Amino acid sequence: MGRPFSLEIAIGSLRQTLLMIDLVEQIVRHQLEETVKELGQPKFRAKQLREWIVQKRVDSFEEMTNLPKAFREKLAESCRIWTTTIAKHTTADDGTEKLLVQLHDGGRIECVLLRDGDRRTICISSQVGCAMGCVFCASGLDGVERNLTAGEIAEQMLRLQMLLPEGERLSHIVVMGMGEPLANIDRLLPALDLASSEDGLGISARRITISTVGLPPAIDKLSKLDTRYHLAVSLHAPNDELRTQIVPVNKTIGIQKILDAADHYFEVSGRRLTFEYVLLSELNDRPEHAQQLAKLLKGRPALLNVIPYNPVPGLPYETPTVQAQQRFREILESHGITVKFRHRKGDKINAACGQLRRLSKENLVPLEGMSS
Ligand code: SAH
Repeated sequence: MGRPFSLEIAIGSLRQTLLMIDLVEQIVRHQLEETVKELGQPKFRAKQLREWIVQKRVDSFEEMTNLPKAFREKLAESCRIWTTTIAKHTTADDGTEKLLVQLHDGGRIECVLLRDGDRRTICISSQVGCAMGCVFCASGLDGVERNLTAGEIAEQMLRLQMLLPEGERLSHIVVMGMGEPLANIDRLLPALDLASSEDGLGISARRITISTVGLPPAIDKLSKLDTRYHLAVSLHAPNDELRTQIVPVNKTIGIQKILDAADHYFEVSGRRLTFEYVLLSELNDRPEHAQQLAKLLKGRPALLNVIPYNPVPGLPYETPTVQAQQRFREILESHGITVKFRHRKGDKINAACGQLRRLSKENLVPLEGMSS
């Protein structure tokens, strides 16, 4: 007995989708020329195609007016620009925009565009979920599902760039969305290469921040690169006992090894490091913690970025009082540490830390299917 007709069509179109060539992935893998040649076109068409997608922010082949019509039709048949769809697009009063991105296999990630004066900063994800297990973080509550591909990481950048009006450009990137970027470094780097290269997004590497829980072998890999990204290390505790409690992956690593790798990165790159410290009431915000932290960081040309805990529904942690925050700051500053408090933007749209994805999963927010 044959299958119902509609199922056959569905299977056919699924096969068609699976056979599609993913252009963004081709771009980050530097394989576009090859593909264009296979489609019977000269090499320079690859440059034109890349320009349309990366710089001119166009996402339909019809708009690529300097490509021959027959080639555009061929592209439409055999290639796709986006592998993802936008499941939800939220805008906050302060101009922060957040995309909940649905991947081809159903996984969901978040990415954010923040507007601050002239700055247009995007925050992107590197994995679906996270395996690091930081106890206060929403992204890791369900563990890690998979690494994002280089194309999927780059796609977030391009999608967010499309939210800007013509004439505005992205100025900064922080890899602080879902996931541990250095656990997926081999896919992250090609995507960041596109961000930092002149014929890519042209964002200077020092305006691109990789935020990591601190994986020494991967930090060492960064030390060997020619491109000098800004490194932010999520410390969250001044001693191993407390850090292992807050950041379980610390158990097999330890603070010292992370500091050694980070110091080495500073030596070879000359880039001042940032240490991040999420302030959790009564857990890591006490005067003795501030004192230990000052001792640990003293002498390092580093910036301490303190982030008062952003509450995650269902988790038992609390944001320290303004007084406790002030006390923490004063102790560190009295020891000569440069401290900056980061107050999160876009809280009202849950633009922080894997929250939108969880909300939509648990409360089944309907998909709004913005144009893809
Ligand atoms: N895995 C990377 C990127 C994570 S997100 C890392 O660990 O650095 C970027 C920063 O947001 C990290 O410092 C992370 O600890 C912090 N963060 C996560 N959840 C938070 C929350 N609920 N409140 C405040 N900061 C949080």
